[in-house]
Amino acid sequence: MAAPGLLPGIGRFFEVATALGRVSRPYSKPHAFTEVRQLPKSQLTKLVFPLQDLERYLLPDSKPDLHLKTFDPRLEDIARADWFFTATERNRIEYHSSAVRLDHAPALARPEVCFIGRSNVGKSSLIKALFSLAPEVEVRVSKKPGHTKKMNFFKVGKYFTLVDMPGYGYRAPEDFVDMVETYLKERKNLMRTFLLVDSVVGIQKADNIAIEMCEELALPYVMVLTKIDKSSKGHLLKQVLQIQKFVDTKTQGCFPQLFPVSAVTYSGIHLLRCFIANITGNLKTDGV
Ligand code: GDP
Repeated sequence: MAAPGLLPGIGRFFEVATALGRVSRPYSKPHAFTEVRQLPKSQLTKLVFPLQDLERYLLPDSKPDLHLKTFDPRLEDIARADWFFTATERNRIEYHSSAVRLDHAPALARPEVCFIGRSNVGKSSLIKALFSLAPEVEVRVSKKPGHTKKMNFFKVGKYFTLVDMPGYGYRAPEDFVDMVETYLKERKNLMRTFLLVDSVVGIQKADNIAIEMCEELALPYVMVLTKIDKSSKGHLLKQVLQIQKFVDTKTQGCFPQLFPVSAVTYSGIHLLRCFIANITGNLKTDGV
């Protein structure tokens, strides 16, 4: 029987998918894309296009639209995107500053992208993975309860700024409204918001607060599904289909294509870098 809330006809696929077992970890080091390109095709797909890899487990007659081609860069573009994230003498990638209020935020004129998500969703790990080609960058985490949560600004060469927003959770709504909503509403150079959802548990109540905020502010945002290495393919596919259906039917501002990632296997990290390079105007791929 198909899981409740899913498209009809998906049931048969689950029988296959649940039998597939856990996702293998073909790759666990932050290699540069030049090395990734040497991998056999199946491993490359798994690592670079995790959504495409999942799609092949769907039955052809019950394939829902995963919007795989909305953002469909060439491997050359993905290779070029890595360059923006690679620290060199001429491309300095560094923590810039932190702020507790928007009026304390640095006046950086470059395009900006921000990452928001529930505490523990895997935000720091994802940002570390994105910056794995700049190992000197320190992604700060303040996890202690009661500790002031801040927005952390990272300069990526002269190309863009990446902002790590405080995680939200049980007690966070007030902080979140004061700090995050004001930032999202008023930051002039904010190009896109990346909203992280834990792929193991799917969209939770606290995630809905952030989704509603993005929708009410009519912001363009993107859903990134974290920790995809943790589930079996069957479970992951079930979550992806549910979230995709939600995005298709309940959202206006969310980019139609989901971005599944793992900070452990680095699946999806290269594609996400490429998308960010596009969003910030540094690359040009169709569909963005
Ligand atoms: P944050 O609170 O959103 O910054 O979350 P963290 O990045 O600190 O991650 C929370 C927990 O999830 C930590 O124990 C991480 O090791 C774990 N985690 C984060 N990302 C991944 C992932 O991609 N795969 C797995 N297996 N664990 C992850």
